[in-house]
Formats: sequence, C-alpha cells, structure tokens
Amino acid sequence: MLLIKERQFIKEYGLKLLEKGLTKATGGNLSIYNRKENLIAISPSAISYKKINIEDIVIMNLEGEKVEGNKKPSTEFQLHRIIYKNRRDVNAVIHTHPTYSTTIACLNEEIPPVHYLIAYSGYKVPCANYAAFGSKKLAKNVYKAMGKKYNAVLMANHGLITVGENIEKALNVSEVVEYCAELYYRTKNFSEPKILSKKQMKKVINNFEDY
Ligand SMILES: [Zn+2]
Repeated sequence: MLLIKERQFIKEYGLKLLEKGLTKATGGNLSIYNRKENLIAISPSAISYKKINIEDIVIMNLEGEKVEGNKKPSTEFQLHRIIYKNRRDVNAVIHTHPTYSTTIACLNEEIPPVHYLIAYSGYKVPCANYAAFGSKKLAKNVYKAMGKKYNAVLMANHGLITVGENIEKALNVSEVVEYCAELYYRTKNFSEPKILSKKQMKKVINNFEDY
C-alpha cells in the first residue's frame, strides 16, 4: 500500500476536524502531498470521517490520475491539485465549512487583520469568488485569491481552505482563522473593530518569520 504514513495522518486529522468543530459529517476534505514520490493522499468522497479506514484513502498523482484506491477521491480534488502545482512550500491542504469563517464567506467579504494572529494566513484572509463546488473554476478562483501570499482563503458562499508545509500546520491555520473570524463577527456585532495597519501587520509577520 502506498503512502501509509500519509494515509494514517489523513484519518487522524479528519477526526480532528470533527472534534474541533471545523466541519460536520462528510463536509470538507484534506490531503497530503508527498513531493518526493509526486503522490497525493486525499480523503475519499462522501464517507464520514468516523468511518474512513486507511485503505479508503485515495492516492492520486499531480496529473490528476488515480494511482491507488477503490473509492472516489474527494470532489474537491482539483482544489488541492492546483495548490500543490503552484505552491512549492505547501504539502498539506485542509478544506472545511466552519461556522464563523463560512458566515463571512456568505457575505463575500474577507477577514481583515482584526487580531494579529491573522498573520497565520498573511496580511488578511481574502475571499475567493463563488463557483460551484467541485468545479475547476472554483479551484482557479481559490488559487487566484491565495497566490503565493496567503495560507488561508475564504470561499464565497461555501467555506474555508488552508495550507501548510505539513498537516499539523494546515490545521493550526484553520483553527486560528476560525478564531479570528469569530472575533471579527463578534466585534462587528458590538461596534466597529479597530483594524491593524499594514505597518503593524508587517512587524507581526516579520516576528513570525524569526520565531
Ligand atoms: Zn466544501
């Protein structure tokens, strides 16, 4: 069986998405790219995280061909693929539908630097234009918003996608972005939040790089 370690991580982190309330039932998907083997391990389509066995995880190549597995890969495979093709610093992708991030995504708005921890994404969390789930157009829209600058993107009327050099980092980004989304939502309900300036955020991002 190919990519056994990656398969185990997909199972383990899929359960973490449920535990941490980042997604529900079969919502969302996650993958790990083994750059050396040029293979992607991705969660299967429409199987709840609690029921996924490691043999259900699908192994794909960067060209989009299935290499191993009896199940169908996640419907959002294109979303994962376009990021691995274009970001050499990324080896894991997590897509979820967490409540606060998705609330803001349904307003088609971005998350500004309302708290310094937004630096986990970059200067902000941009919002990608809407396209139907599973479509190549959605993958294109997401990568257009993400580029090489951000580790997180809201997907209009849909959810959140985060990336990292490994699956643990990609999960951290998801949790921190959801926290910032909640803060933004709550401060907006209360009054108008004070947004950090580009200069203030630049300092945070520089400190993060040295950290
Ligand atoms: Zn989705």
